[in-house]
Amino acid sequence: MSFAALGLTDELLKAVAEQGYQEPTPIQLAAIPVILQGRDVQALAQTGTGKTAGFTLPLLQKLAAVTYKKPRPVRALVLTPTRELAVQVHDSVRTYGKHVAVFAEAIYGGVSMNSQTQRLRRGCDIVVATPGRLLDHAGQQHIDLSRVEVLVLDEADRMLDMGFSRDIKRILDLLPAPRQNLLFSATFPPAIKTLAGQLLHDPVEIEIAGQTIAADTVSQLVYPIKREYKRELLSYLIGSSNWRQVLVFVRTRHGADRLGEQLLKDGIRTGVLHGDKSQGARSRALASFKAGNIAVLVATDIAARGLDIDQLPHVINFDLPALAAAEDYIHRIGRTGRAGLRGEAISLVCPEEAVQLAAIEKLLQHPIPRVADTGYETVSLDVVPARKIPKILKKSPKKPPEKPLSAKKTRPFGKKPAENKSRRTTGKR
Ligand code: AMP
Repeated sequence: MSFAALGLTDELLKAVAEQGYQEPTPIQLAAIPVILQGRDVQALAQTGTGKTAGFTLPLLQKLAAVTYKKPRPVRALVLTPTRELAVQVHDSVRTYGKHVAVFAEAIYGGVSMNSQTQRLRRGCDIVVATPGRLLDHAGQQHIDLSRVEVLVLDEADRMLDMGFSRDIKRILDLLPAPRQNLLFSATFPPAIKTLAGQLLHDPVEIEIAGQTIAADTVSQLVYPIKREYKRELLSYLIGSSNWRQVLVFVRTRHGADRLGEQLLKDGIRTGVLHGDKSQGARSRALASFKAGNIAVLVATDIAARGLDIDQLPHVINFDLPALAAAEDYIHRIGRTGRAGLRGEAISLVCPEEAVQLAAIEKLLQHPIPRVADTGYETVSLDVVPARKIPKILKKSPKKPPEKPLSAKKTRPFGKKPAENKSRRTTGKR
């Protein structure tokens, strides 16, 4: 079945075609028509199933059907557990809504409220928000939620896990009663069933089993390798296969700069994309990459998000995403294998990342094949159970032990890398 058969307008079909999507995913097939009909929806679906387009496309179509004079009232509210997800959903709304006059803003914590306040005052049709920050704005009368027609709870189970239950109830009190409610959750524990019972009226229940989009169209491989050999292996893979368009993901801005420099030294034409780069530098790097002047673009997740760079033949995870952001893996590899083309996603994984890999495989619901012979020393990616870690390593000693076990290669035990810390804190509201 095609997207057109789902009853979407030409403007939305055009945006979908521009993304290279050929046919709707199961969740899109099930959700789009019933959301267009105005029904409440309870959907069991995880990241990677295409759920975001599943609710965003019909939402945009409904809102675009009626235009309001300025300032536009907020007519749809999408709640997400984390700032990262709010940014992703906001990006999707903008991507799919490119050809309709519907405006969206993202509201999340960890950044100053001022610019958000100004944007809210200008008016918008859709607000994508994390609960805490939304309540801050509502408390200060920066936002009027009394004209919301559609409420979406995205990753509802994660919102409750993160302790947002009371915030959600407070937000519900600010919304008008006659409205459409859409609840998306990867799991349905009793707390979610209770919430669904309170929120939804005669909902259409949708259940999409396991498989993610990525799994079908992208061949995924893990190279188990020591951290210190990753760069060399990367250069080898790119050089020996003569790859010409490779997007390489790293966790930190600093890591991106360092890897970019090293690849340049290896004679590989490389650009770097991260949040500290000026808009001009980012645009130039992207243009060179698209034009084929550089073969490799090294990017952080945030910088790569929202950029029109997909349908790539190769995506490489130089670092795996942080544990709390395992679904970034799916977004990363979603850059390849689009529009029916086969794509390849390679992850260079060191033993220190075994836990992250396990979280990703749990999300995918299948293991990712390992390359048996990487050409380097064999390493194990088994997750070491906590009880097997020697006691001395579990403490974070004030003084370093007299004879560090491997002082040169590892960071001090117990100390988290800075970017890991910031991800956790920014996800709160
Ligand atoms: P989501 O589950 O919403 O996080 O989407 C996962 C990934 O699937 C994203 O990278 C989307 O761009 C991509 N996607 C969504 N719908 C489709 C589709 N119909 N065909 C191919 N890819 C899609």
